[in-house]
Amino acid sequence: MSGNEVIAEVKNLRTYFHVPEGVVRAVDGVDLVIKPGRTLGVVGESGCGKSVTALSLMRLVPSPGRIEGGEIIYYQSVRETSASSLSDIIDITRLKPNSREIRAIRGNHISMVFQEPMAAMLPVRTVGSQIMEAITLHQNVSHQEARERAIEMLARVNLPNPDRIVDNYPFQLSGGMRQRAVIAMALSCNPHLLIADEPTTALDVTTEAQILDLMRKLQADYNMAIMFITHNLGVIAEMADEVAVMYLGKVVEQTDIRSIFINPLHPYTQALLRSIPQLDDVMTRSGERRQLHTIKGMVPDPYTVLKGCPFHPRCPHFMSEVCDQVVPEVIEAEPDHIVRCHLYAPSPEEAQTRKEAML
Ligand code: SF4
Repeated sequence: MSGNEVIAEVKNLRTYFHVPEGVVRAVDGVDLVIKPGRTLGVVGESGCGKSVTALSLMRLVPSPGRIEGGEIIYYQSVRETSASSLSDIIDITRLKPNSREIRAIRGNHISMVFQEPMAAMLPVRTVGSQIMEAITLHQNVSHQEARERAIEMLARVNLPNPDRIVDNYPFQLSGGMRQRAVIAMALSCNPHLLIADEPTTALDVTTEAQILDLMRKLQADYNMAIMFITHNLGVIAEMADEVAVMYLGKVVEQTDIRSIFINPLHPYTQALLRSIPQLDDVMTRSGERRQLHTIKGMVPDPYTVLKGCPFHPRCPHFMSEVCDQVVPEVIEAEPDHIVRCHLYAPSPEEAQTRKEAML
């Protein structure tokens, strides 16, 4: 695949944490493709490896975690920045976490917005000084130019009085304003790829809607790729063009946004969709409360390596002697729609019969 079609490709990525209790395979053979100007939604329950995948892309995996294998290919176009000495195709996994090369990419070509803005900003430094630092680190500009750019970015994310907020400390801003400031910082160097890790989870629904609108607008303005990580399928429906569903460190289904909602194939995706609360599910017309749909069981202990399909203890379509014995391979069940499930592996007729039995 060429850099004209994609901005980053993750191939068979494995990121493990070696701890005294055992090995946590947080990311265990993930493949993803991220395209310019498009949003890839990455969805799944807590502990399924979404955030560690994102941290691997930034080479920010905390110790004792490390990338054990696979590739993260970044296709950069030539830019008028200090990073333009980098080659056009870079395997990020081969860069040292603190090398000059990865520091030239991080925050400049690839930026990240975290769930909790206080984790991304130092409380003892003004918002403006932190945005200016990101700018001067990657661009050859004067202090005054960096300050003007910081004010411009704060205005760009619709913060009122940006020339005053530039001198405020993070604690002087509300949660929604802080998250806008973090987005301004992430976008200050006009990145090719923005990784947003649950950027609106801590916000109220009104602020969430505003931030999502803002991100979509900025994406259109900058033709930026977004990798949007969330457990919220409602947010995915609003933001994503393609969706990767992750479970226990693996992508179990990947396709375009329409197919994931109209024709979900993997039993885990189907269960996630059933778990979205609907008004009718919460209360009947007579005012009776109903129980919400949940996914049976829990995500297993991270040290456990399950034989066969990792979803089999929770799967309503579990097939004995198959699902608990054989790891399902990636199958292109339909054009541009991949799934890891034995239901789609046998002959087409058999798969169809099984699928119909599931409906
Ligand atoms: Fe369920 Fe088997 Fe498919 Fe796993 S492989 S999701 S256990 S049917």
